[in-house]
Amino acid sequence: MSKKLHNFNAGPSVLPKNIFEKTSKSILNLNESGLSILEISHRSNQFKDIFSEARELVLNIAKLDSNEYSSLFLQGGASTQFLMVAYNFLYNNAGYINTGSWSAKAMKEAKLFGNVIELASSKDKNYNYIPKNYNNTSDLDYVHLTTNNTIYGTQFKSIPNFNQSIIADMSSDIFSRDIDYSVFDLFYAGAQKNLGPAGTTLVVIKKEIIKKIQREIPSILNYKIHIDKDSSFNTPPVFSIYACLLNLREIKTKGLESIESDNKTKADILYDEIDNNSCFVGFVENEDRSNMNVTFNLTDNNNSEIFEKICKESGVIGINGHRSVGGYRASLYNALQIGSVEVLVTCMKEVESLINKK
Ligand SMILES: *Cc1c(COP(=O)(O)O)cnc(C)c1O
Repeated sequence: MSKKLHNFNAGPSVLPKNIFEKTSKSILNLNESGLSILEISHRSNQFKDIFSEARELVLNIAKLDSNEYSSLFLQGGASTQFLMVAYNFLYNNAGYINTGSWSAKAMKEAKLFGNVIELASSKDKNYNYIPKNYNNTSDLDYVHLTTNNTIYGTQFKSIPNFNQSIIADMSSDIFSRDIDYSVFDLFYAGAQKNLGPAGTTLVVIKKEIIKKIQREIPSILNYKIHIDKDSSFNTPPVFSIYACLLNLREIKTKGLESIESDNKTKADILYDEIDNNSCFVGFVENEDRSNMNVTFNLTDNNNSEIFEKICKESGVIGINGHRSVGGYRASLYNALQIGSVEVLVTCMKEVESLINKK
């Protein structure tokens, strides 16, 4: 038996343990079918049942009507959605809120298809806050925002109002909280942060906006075709979708309200320690702090060796900050247990008492 590890990685990231057990079984024998999940046909009734349950659960959890919205499990990651959104829906101007590297990458792709207007940016402070005022927003095909900024650790606590369609990259906080998903005409998320393993990207789209597609688009990048083909225009990533289904069932059972409350408890414990421990300082403006990705630094970088040694001994892994921010980042996705946060906090307290003894 290996020592228990506390996985704070930003993505791919921690998932509920029973999903590892169930998916392991499915690789040998899916639901007593005699076939492995890795070999069943995506056209088989067995997979069709899995797929339709997963697609229905997404809408059910988001409280969206299946007559109005469609859920798709595509490939190519959230990064493909950066260009697909613009290819399908950007004809004149689109507004983008620039809250970090992922937003900036979305803007870069969108510029290939039309005029990108930066409605606001927090680049002036290395993206350590969420801008609250936006430039004039008339005449936009849509507004794009990133609900949670995985690298910097900021999060929109509420979704701003716009008259236009809102399209959101929710890769790192999808189904982590109970928000009104109907404010979006489209939202997407690479599965590997809070939904399941890498290999599929969830897209939820309001069917009505399909009418806005005006140009000819290669089939694989055309939302209308994916909707018409029930998300099976090409071979769907069968295994990733199965693992997502198992997690969606857990999310449904627990409920977004209770998930949000647990996530808040975990984040509060860690932010509290950051604020009260003389060896650490938070990176983000208090009001914009993410409950998913907590970014912080040592007040004295000379203590990094000792902190990292203590973490290693305690089984804390994956807390190194992204290279563009430095310092540390602890990702507290749904499946991360409160006990793991407590272990990290203990490591931080240990650093403080060692330093104070010196
Ligand atoms: C990880 C991440 C992405 C990139 O996702 P891929 O699936 O690797 O393309 C995009 N946006 C956000 C907010 C992310 O956290």
